[in-house]
Amino acid sequence: MTMTISEATQTLAQLQRELHAYRHAVGVIRLDSLTAAPPGSARGRGETLQFLASKSYDLLVNPDTARLLYFLRDHEDELTAHQAREVQLLLEEYENISKVPAGEYAAYRALINQAESVWHEAKRTNDYPLFAPYLGQVVETMRRFAGYYAPDRDPMDVWLNQNERGLSREKLDPFFTELREKIGPILHHVARQPQIDDSFLFQSYPIYRQRELADYLMELLCIDRQYCNIGETEHPFTTRFNKRDVRITTKYQERSFAPALFSVIHESGHALYELGLDDEHTNTFLDGGASSSIHESQSRLFENMVGRSRAFLSLIFPKLQELFPSQLGGVTAEALYRAVNKSQPSPIRIEADELTYPFHIMVRYEIEKAMMAGEVSTERLPALWAEKMEQYLGIQVPDDAHGILQDSHWSGGKIGYFPSYALGSAYAAQIMARMRFDLDPQRVIASGDLSPIVGWLRERVHRYGMLLDPDDVILNCCGAPFDPTYYTDYLADKYTRLYQL
Ligand code: ZN
Repeated sequence: MTMTISEATQTLAQLQRELHAYRHAVGVIRLDSLTAAPPGSARGRGETLQFLASKSYDLLVNPDTARLLYFLRDHEDELTAHQAREVQLLLEEYENISKVPAGEYAAYRALINQAESVWHEAKRTNDYPLFAPYLGQVVETMRRFAGYYAPDRDPMDVWLNQNERGLSREKLDPFFTELREKIGPILHHVARQPQIDDSFLFQSYPIYRQRELADYLMELLCIDRQYCNIGETEHPFTTRFNKRDVRITTKYQERSFAPALFSVIHESGHALYELGLDDEHTNTFLDGGASSSIHESQSRLFENMVGRSRAFLSLIFPKLQELFPSQLGGVTAEALYRAVNKSQPSPIRIEADELTYPFHIMVRYEIEKAMMAGEVSTERLPALWAEKMEQYLGIQVPDDAHGILQDSHWSGGKIGYFPSYALGSAYAAQIMARMRFDLDPQRVIASGDLSPIVGWLRERVHRYGMLLDPDDVILNCCGAPFDPTYYTDYLADKYTRLYQL
């Protein structure tokens, strides 16, 4: 049977609408499970999710879809740029899935399921030896799968590229070296300076007032509440079903307003990206951010470069004093700026400040490289972790629960994912530097109307969705390839002033 280009592109559009509908359904069920579902509801949900997963798998991995995608690829010059990109990404997904024997993939899913629940237990009871055999199997499987995906490439590079197109050790190694050389000495200097007093951040801050703060922040950040709302979860995140249905979550803690303040700003940065996509991506495979690093660049730009700036904190300070009059009555905006930028090494990544954060990532990146190269046994990993934490952050790891067991990523097969958190911050610094050619961010922030910043990002980053590779998003936005010195300069400048080094 032959098909015409117009039939084929119609089928392509229909395929993507169907794939999108499954993703939508799975996304709503997952969100519900994390926010509203009662604790005993896991089994029924598991069955439904499994059914939906197998349906959408069959939709993509079947001979008709393969024929369609290869046909369209062979007629690439007759497609629009969007269609050609859709075919490219779908075909990549199809080929990746087809390279792993179906039985092995199912075994891997089962392993991950088990590894995740064992990890929970091991973290809770501080029992690394319980988790070690599962981690060993995950690593072994991922090394094997890397061989299926790209037999001639190093497994670490394969997984970096799986997580972000174009990412490799060749790009990351110089990035982390630059960080180590330029920021390492600053960390040591900060440790010798008198520490900033942030005790006023830790008092009783009523949660109903923090909810009011969240609404105020979302409005300030130009979030259209018609299409985005906020919920509460144990770990804050953003999810999206399409550009007109984006959800963020946060966690309120009575002991301080700061965690919710910055998590709402962070997730709002993710939300603005999704809300800012071009309409033509809707219901296609390009509907979403370019990669996790590019996504993090938007959340961290707002969280750190906007949210932790003097201008922003001065802007919101009157509102904070109005919401928390007795707690913040005797505090100045400058004291708040210093307190929320305090740097102090700690064992926990997700509690780390802007300056120490990338060193937590470096520890994980180096260990992942060793694991993927088969150079380290799972038994030796906790000791290696402790050595690297001592070397980079000068701290002793109290126990495995606060060390190698703290993150869920490896139990879920997410190897090669951590670097995106550090890269995102580095991208953000370069994007901000480019923005300064067109507008003065601090002056815009001080005006109280942040729409010029949001509009600039929409035009230069958000609207493209997955049309561009991550490297090309930076090139297109900044007019130059990725350069980590913007990030190291930003950190060096900020912390040299803050701690008067
Ligand atoms: Zn994030």
